[in-house]
Amino acid sequence: METKLRIAIQKSGRLSESSLKLLKECGIEFDNGLNKLKAEAFNFPLEVFFLRDDDIPQYVEDGVADIGIVGENVFLEKNKKIQLVDKLGFGKCRLSIAIPKEKKYTSLKDFDGKRFATSYPNILSNYLKKNKIKAEIQEISGSVEIAPGIGLADAICDLVSSGSTLFTNGLKETTIILNSEAVLVANNNLKRDRKIILNKLLFRINAVRKAKNTKYILLNAPNNKLQKICSILPGMKSPTILPLAEKNWSSVHSVVEENQFWEIIEKLKTNGAQGILVLPIEKMIL
Ligand code: ATP
Ligand code: ZN
Repeated sequence: METKLRIAIQKSGRLSESSLKLLKECGIEFDNGLNKLKAEAFNFPLEVFFLRDDDIPQYVEDGVADIGIVGENVFLEKNKKIQLVDKLGFGKCRLSIAIPKEKKYTSLKDFDGKRFATSYPNILSNYLKKNKIKAEIQEISGSVEIAPGIGLADAICDLVSSGSTLFTNGLKETTIILNSEAVLVANNNLKRDRKIILNKLLFRINAVRKAKNTKYILLNAPNNKLQKICSILPGMKSPTILPLAEKNWSSVHSVVEENQFWEIIEKLKTNGAQGILVLPIEKMIL
């Protein structure tokens, strides 16, 4: 029987859609009908398990699944014997300490002898220990943000993305203790044939990520400006230059990275580039 790599992803929640999208962008197709627990890819040796995110680290440690996608917060909190293979760039949020907004905050020292409510007792207690703060930690599994209001705690430690939940519960963020995003985790003892499939998958994930951060750029320029324009364009190797039907003009093709994009476009324009077109890249193999 053909070996398959088994991946666990969140069944329904904040990471579900992006996890499915990532697999799809990697060209992996499967039928994920509603309420399915398991799906098999048609065109890649992959089996997909749909689980609660909290259970994924344990399943990966036990080898029920070979790899999984979870928030780094869950990976660190569960503290299982598994490895972090790659950060995936979605599901970004932060784990923060918050207090009632009318309370004054000066430094971490304020929390000495105080009570925290959190769903992340391990990450929080490590953080407090590292900062030599002695506080009491009350673990609760949901609706942490109401704990101060009902007198259960002086402060909370919870996930934040926009901060609007904190705000509506009369809280303010004082300290970020972890910046988190979705990560790919793997079992520590993957067999060789499964590792080979994992590497194929990682190769595709990389190509998708690289493409997302890069744009394809086309422009027209008079030939006497070409040298200057080519020196502005970083490109993968050197840019492609094709003659235009109009005499003494050329079309230049290259790729630019998202983070340098605007700066480069401005320089190109001031150096005589015209008709600049910018296109998304779907996949990029270096
Ligand atoms: P499950 O039913 O699978 O246990 P859940 O309710 O525990 O789901 P979600 O709220 O769907 O989990 O969050 C999953 C992950 O999404 C979090 O662990 C975190 O890594 C990430 N995330 C991104 N933004 C936020 C946010 N604003 N609040 C909470 N989690 C967020
Ligand atoms: Zn969960």
